[in-house]
Order: sequence, then C-alpha cells, then structure tokens
Amino acid sequence: MTNDARPGGPGDEARVVDTVPTGLFIGGSWRPAGSGRTLTVDDPATGKALCKVSDAGPEDGMAALAAASVAQPLFAAMPPRERGEILRRAYDVIMERIDDLALLMTLEMGKPIAESKGEITYAAEFFRWFSEEAVRIGGGYATAPNGASRFLVQKQPVGVCLLITPWNFPMAMGTRKIGPAIAAGCAMVLKPAAQTPLSMHALAAILAEVGLPAGALNIVTTADAGGVMEPLIRDGRARKLSFTGSTPVGRKLLAQAADKVLRTSMELGGNAPFLVFDDADLDRAVEGAMQAKMRNMGEACTAANRFLVHRSVAGAFADELTDRMGALTVGRGTENGVQVGPLIDAKGRDKVVELVRDAVDRGATVRVGAEPLDGPGFFYRPTVLTDVPLAARLTREEIFGPVAAITAFDDEDEAVRAANDTHFGLVGYLYTENITRALRVSERLETGMVGLNTGLVSNPAAPFGGIKQSGLGREGGGAGIEEYLETKYVAIGVGA
Ligand code: NAP
Repeated sequence: MTNDARPGGPGDEARVVDTVPTGLFIGGSWRPAGSGRTLTVDDPATGKALCKVSDAGPEDGMAALAAASVAQPLFAAMPPRERGEILRRAYDVIMERIDDLALLMTLEMGKPIAESKGEITYAAEFFRWFSEEAVRIGGGYATAPNGASRFLVQKQPVGVCLLITPWNFPMAMGTRKIGPAIAAGCAMVLKPAAQTPLSMHALAAILAEVGLPAGALNIVTTADAGGVMEPLIRDGRARKLSFTGSTPVGRKLLAQAADKVLRTSMELGGNAPFLVFDDADLDRAVEGAMQAKMRNMGEACTAANRFLVHRSVAGAFADELTDRMGALTVGRGTENGVQVGPLIDAKGRDKVVELVRDAVDRGATVRVGAEPLDGPGFFYRPTVLTDVPLAARLTREEIFGPVAAITAFDDEDEAVRAANDTHFGLVGYLYTENITRALRVSERLETGMVGLNTGLVSNPAAPFGGIKQSGLGREGGGAGIEEYLETKYVAIGVGA
C-alpha cells in the first residue's frame, strides 16, 4: 500500500470530473433523465459535492431495456472476434488513461490513488481475459449410446442482462460482468451504485469510443434503485440478473427474479475467517493479514472479518499486526503518502463505531485505534482488538472498515467450527506450513474460495464466488462466461 506516481492537484481533480459524461447512457447516446432530475456525487474524504449526474426514473429504465432488447439480436450475431477486439481495445484505452481514471475513482470512493490504480488494472484485466474467451466458446458433438442419434451441443448468449453493482469497487464489479456479457453476445442494462457512478460512466464512454454497438450497454444511474430495477426484472424481456451487493438486497432481488424465472448470479456479502495455525510463517501471516484486512480500507466482501489465531502464537501475531496497523497513514486518498482513505459515508463509519463499541463492551481489548477521526470526511483509525468474544456482533456481521478482531483458539476442530459458524461462505484465509493440514482445512472450510498462505484471492482468470448466503454463480475464469451462455442441445436422427 504505497502511494507513488499520482496525478496533480485540484486542477486535475476538476478536469477529470468535468470530462465524465453525466447523463444516462441509453441506446448509444447520453441523455438527461426524462424527469430532468439529478443526484449529487460526493467526495467521502471531504463530504463535498463533486458533481451532479442524471437521476433515472422508471421510464428511463424502460427506455434502456427497450434499447438493449433491440440491440440483442444484432449483438449476438456480431462475430466473436469483433466482440473480443472491442474488449481488447477497451483494455488498452483503460490502461493508457489509468492516471485519470484512478484520480476519478479516488474522488468518488475515497481509496488511495495506488489502490484505485490496483482496482483499475484488475478491472481492465477482466476485459483482456474475456477478449480471449470470446473466441473460445465451445460446443460438442457426440454419438448417443444406442447409436441411433447424434447430439449437437451449442452455446448461445443468454439474452438481455440486468447488472447491478456496488460502490466499493466502482469499476471492477462492473467489468467482471460486462466483460463476459460482451464476450458471450449479451446486451445489458447496468445500474451502478448511486454513490459512485462516475467510474462506470467513464467506462461506458470508453466502450462507446472503441466501437461497442449502440444499445449493447446502457447505464441507468438512479437514486431509486428498487423503483427503477424492479419493473425491469419483472418485465420479461431481460433473461438474466447479475447482482453484486449485500445479502439482504440479493435475497429481495432473487424473489423478484423468480417471477419470470431469470438466470441469476449473486455475489453477496462475506464474513471471512482468517486462520493462523501454530505452524504458520508468522511474518507471512501478518503480511497477508494486512492485505486481506486493509485492501479498500476493509470495505471489501473478501475482507478478513475474524482473525482466529492459535493461542501459542496469538500474542506475537497481535503485536506485529498492531505495529503495522498503527503505522498506517490515514487521510484523503489523493494526498501523498496516504495509505488508508475515508469510509464511504457517515452510516458506514457509524456502523464501525457501533461494532467496535459492542466488542469492547463484551470484553475485547483495544490494542490500537478504535476511534473515528474528526471530520470532514468519514475516517476511522486502523484498529486491532484482541480477546474478542465470539458472541460480539463483529464476528457475525460484515465490519466493512479497518478493524482487525482477533480471537485465540486451542485446536484445529475448534478453529474450523468457529470459521464455519456463519451463514456467509465467500472466502476463508488459512496460514500453515503443514501441507496435510493445509489441504485438510481447505476442504473443511465452508467457503467458495480459500486463500492458502495468501491474503489475496481475486484474479480475473479464477472463478470468484461464494456458497451459503454469499451467493450463486462465479465471476471470472472459464466459469465467468458460462454465466452468460445457455446450452442448446440438438438431437439429430441418423437412423433409417
Ligand atoms: P447494497 O446496498 O446491497 O447495494 C448494492 C447495489 O444494489 C447498489 O447498486 C444499490 O443501489 C443496489 N440496490 C440497493 N437496493 C436495491 C433494490 N431494492 N433493488 C435493486 N437494486 C438495489 O450493497 P452496498 O452497500 O452497495 O455494497 C456492499 C455489499 O456488497 C457488502 O455486503 C459486500 O460484501 C457486497 N459485495 C460483494 C461482492 C462479491 O463479489 N461477493 C463484491 C463487492 C461487494 P444504490 O447504491 O444506488 O442504493
């Protein structure tokens, strides 16, 4: 988490915000909302407004769905190589403009510039990966067991997709869906989070610039997410809903999608356990802990939420982590040397305050931090708590902030039981130098992903996703494009 090469000062800030289109992107052009309404995008480091963007209403949502429905057959018929090359050109342009895009992301979301660059690189890599997948969509041909017929198996695009993304990774959560949808030939309506729409607007402008056909991607930014999206989900023209966000909203959307039996992909909340065994390399475990805890200021679905550490090494682990957390520089993400930016808003910060207070009231010890910083902005000091009782709320709920909660355990069974004692199942981290234990515990963890001696699992070429109430489906890797493809089987009679 260093903050090296950065764009300049306030002049650059105004320039990057001014160049972002602020309308709704429907049918290949930018237009104001039918109602004329706008919503304000704020800088979470200052609480001040950055700009206003159009605020879609239900009729704008319907216009976007109509545009996607018109584009769908044409887009599906576009040669895969051409769709792949659109993605590849977009990858190149994103990487050429990474400085401006990173500044824009930091302004609307708060993370330090170096982390914004990390997200943008990750986001762009989905386009590069899926540009290569577009031309590798396979099929099959086989002989029936009785020899009387042949099976032809073909992959076809699902159809129009509705995509909903959260504020914490304003670009990557979009490209993880848009990349495979373009590769597969699906037209889209995307709704970014109202708090961070600018990165998605900038991305849509880049896709239009590199030749994405009109209507293939439509963006409806709105302050009324439910009011705009529910009619689209229930309409019947869209065939798929892909959502990244919280589990409660995911549940609601699954119920809406049941009406027209939409395909669904759900990337929901997490409550990641981070297990450190007595045979772990402690320096490596602390390094991984910093990454798994502090990426995105802790505002990540993959954030380590519960540190479960063997009693014999818990003291040394806590000491080293406390030193590292206490040394971090907190501030506005655009400033030199800042490693930890603000939380997204007052609600997010107040939740962290509440969860830490609850843990302390139940007997947790504060090693460092445990307090918000004075405003403006929504800053919270990097925090380490030890002796956290498993009854504390922060072991059940997503903290979504820079707080490491450490609980000691005595044996492997106890650690695994505690790790799995949650309705979430996104990712678990595991530090041990014992190969047998590594494989055994990886298998026993009830999660879709395991970080084994690493604090970072996200990779565009790997299948990202959760089990239990952390979601359905996978994004990235070979599995990522399958979410946007239907399988058609043609039975061919060959008998006399
Ligand atoms: P959220 O409140 O569920 O919102 C996510 C998105 O859904 C936003 O675009 C939001 O719009 C929209 N939304 C909210 N209510 C809706 C409704 N009734 N109908 C349609 N759309 C609706 O989550 P968040 O606070 O933005 O994001 C944090 C959550 O996302 C955490 O739980 C985190 O773990 C999860 N997440 C999961 C993954 C993963 O891959 N598993 C990745 C990142 C984040 P507005 O913002 O405009 O209200």
